[in-house]
Amino acid sequence: MNPTDCSVIVLYQSPAQPYAIDGSTNSESTENNQWPTYMVSLQAVFGQVILQSNPAEALERARECNQVSPTLLLIDLDALLGTECPEEEYDYDDTDSLYTLSCSSSCSTNSTNSSGTMADPRMAWVKKISREMSTVPIVVCSTNDSPSFMLDCIHAGASDYLLKPLPLYTIKTLFLKLHRCRADSKMHDSSVQGSSFPSSPVSCPDHFLSNSPPITTTSYPPNSLNNRFKEIFNRDMQLTKAIMDIYVPLPQHAKYMTITSQHKDTLKKAIFSWDYCPFDYDSTDLIHCVYLIFEQILVSPELSYLGIGQGQLYDFIIDLSSAYHDENPYHNFAHAVDVLQCLFHFLCQLGLLPYNTVDTGRSSYQLPQDILRPLDVFGLLLAAIGHDAAHPGVNNMFLINSATPLALLYNDHSILESLHSMTLFQLIKKHGFDQFAGGCGSSSYQEFRKTVITSILATDMSLHSDYVTKIKEQADRMKTIDLNSLDSVALQNERLLLCSGLIKCADISNVTRPFMRAEKWAELLVEEFVLQGDLERELGMPVLPMNDRTKVILEDSQIGFICFVALDLFKSVQKVLPEMSFAVNHMESNLKRWEHRKNSNHNCASTDTPLVVPAASAAAGAAAGAATGASAGVKEETESSWEAPIEQQTTIHVETVTKKRTSGTMDCNTQVVEIHKRVSLDSGRDTLSNSSTRFKKMPSMPAMAMENYVESKMTTVAASIDTKPEHPNEARGEWGTHDSSNPSYCQYTVLSTISTPH
Ligand SMILES: [Zn+2]
Repeated sequence: MNPTDCSVIVLYQSPAQPYAIDGSTNSESTENNQWPTYMVSLQAVFGQVILQSNPAEALERARECNQVSPTLLLIDLDALLGTECPEEEYDYDDTDSLYTLSCSSSCSTNSTNSSGTMADPRMAWVKKISREMSTVPIVVCSTNDSPSFMLDCIHAGASDYLLKPLPLYTIKTLFLKLHRCRADSKMHDSSVQGSSFPSSPVSCPDHFLSNSPPITTTSYPPNSLNNRFKEIFNRDMQLTKAIMDIYVPLPQHAKYMTITSQHKDTLKKAIFSWDYCPFDYDSTDLIHCVYLIFEQILVSPELSYLGIGQGQLYDFIIDLSSAYHDENPYHNFAHAVDVLQCLFHFLCQLGLLPYNTVDTGRSSYQLPQDILRPLDVFGLLLAAIGHDAAHPGVNNMFLINSATPLALLYNDHSILESLHSMTLFQLIKKHGFDQFAGGCGSSSYQEFRKTVITSILATDMSLHSDYVTKIKEQADRMKTIDLNSLDSVALQNERLLLCSGLIKCADISNVTRPFMRAEKWAELLVEEFVLQGDLERELGMPVLPMNDRTKVILEDSQIGFICFVALDLFKSVQKVLPEMSFAVNHMESNLKRWEHRKNSNHNCASTDTPLVVPAASAAAGAAAGAATGASAGVKEETESSWEAPIEQQTTIHVETVTKKRTSGTMDCNTQVVEIHKRVSLDSGRDTLSNSSTRFKKMPSMPAMAMENYVESKMTTVAASIDTKPEHPNEARGEWGTHDSSNPSYCQYTVLSTISTPH
């Protein structure tokens, strides 16, 4: 579909002098300054643009045009402010429970009709037109940026809401609405044969679902398939929008992304470097970096049929970057870009990128990575950049403990990961990416979707050990099986596991980056964890040592994380993909540096002093020994920089860490005892009254979660601290549900070891 083959009817009523013109011929009105300013852009993009000032005429004209070419109706709500409300809408609203519910909270200032429902003429017109136009998508535009007003428009039947002014790049994507509705319509026609239900309810507004009268809970016939679909999907759509409304920041206005060829070369060089650091770039450059990485795979002929244009990709990336909360110290867009670039680097090491190095004529699989097709690689990259979208800055455990609506919705399983995946797919749909690969009903799109979802869900660290086990089994399989003999199901399973292993490595790759980078990331993560701890303390929730700013020791946390979490994963993946050994070497080198720092800063008795975890010290020692052996080839300059003062190595100050470093005389055994004492305190009430919390950077957690806690759950939680047993994963001492990159593994294990009996 090409926009030049499409028509747009614009319903715009000049406040001063209503008129109707055919936009292609009338230039007088332009001189009179009575055209909306976006008309010129519309005319530059679409084949036919017709301005109408009368809603009834606009409706009729849209119907006529749609007989000839795909037609979209754009309603300028600001220009409809002074119009009369269509008569019949009063009666209609009286019976439409969804609309009444939606509007009653947000439109209280508007005049109401006799039954108490709102009577904003603009909304009434949207509803009337959308109900009568079953085949033409309705898009509304306005300068009103109130989220509730926007939602009301969508609930009234608009398929999209555009904020004015309408820039050219927004107008250029308008035809995708037409494309999507037509594709969905086709998809649905084939799946529900004989039904008059013409279109996908998820992608299109409710007026597409049926031409029948509005439903009520008492009036629709129980056997009406159409009404059943409407009932189910309408609510589903509202649920999705409500979640997005609560958790995802509103998108910023997109702006043109231009880049000079010289700057492009600089960024291109950067994305190929293992020393890449997102903090070196501003947000615009980060967006360019993401674009340049995707460009490496989208040039492949196998993906050319996707037809993803430069502007479309930039718009998507800008929107996705807005879906991250900047105020999170760690889980923000920079982390997403870091994971993406890391994965890109892995794929380069594996010979899958950049695309022109791949042997596209390959007819058999020689290496495990050969089974990853361009669409898998594209899906994996999309998963990487979207894998933490809308992260609220608190972990799954916090959401479970505070019984947030999100935790209830996802039954405490992979809550955040489910949110990230859902958010990403909302944006994929919004930007028309769900139309590629044959549309969302095709098998290749379903495979692509599964790749993305599986990859994102694999980043749930509560499943870490399960994945490591599966990857080890895969490594064993790879020694014996012939990949070319696998059936399609088995091959797909191997693909998904490869993708899971790679994205998991990328997600915790901080510990494999050059030390200066690794250290900075570690400090940011600790900062986010202790901010959560502050919040937990304020809410009267138990605070784990990893979230307690008075207990976290950076060196211990990093040593523990490498020894008990990261090394095992990377070595398992290395067995499947030997090209990943460079990352293992980097990690082992970093481990040596953390140990060196721990020994020199904490004043332990000797370098042989066991870690604070008696049960795990042997494993840690073994890992450290292995690291010593494996990192013999570390570059000289890396070794010599070990002695650099802490102040010079640290760019972000973490108060507690410094305090701990300088405390000096506490040996490791004393630490165990001290931690035990604190655990006892934590499990009592002492900390509840301690409000020395610093909310200097409150993570943007869902407001409902906090309100629930403060207003109604405080007493319940306080009581449950005494009686409630630990979470099952805590009792097992699993790394698991606490967060995606727990830096305090050692201390956490101590906690579990000591307090397991009850
Ligand atoms: Zn992540």
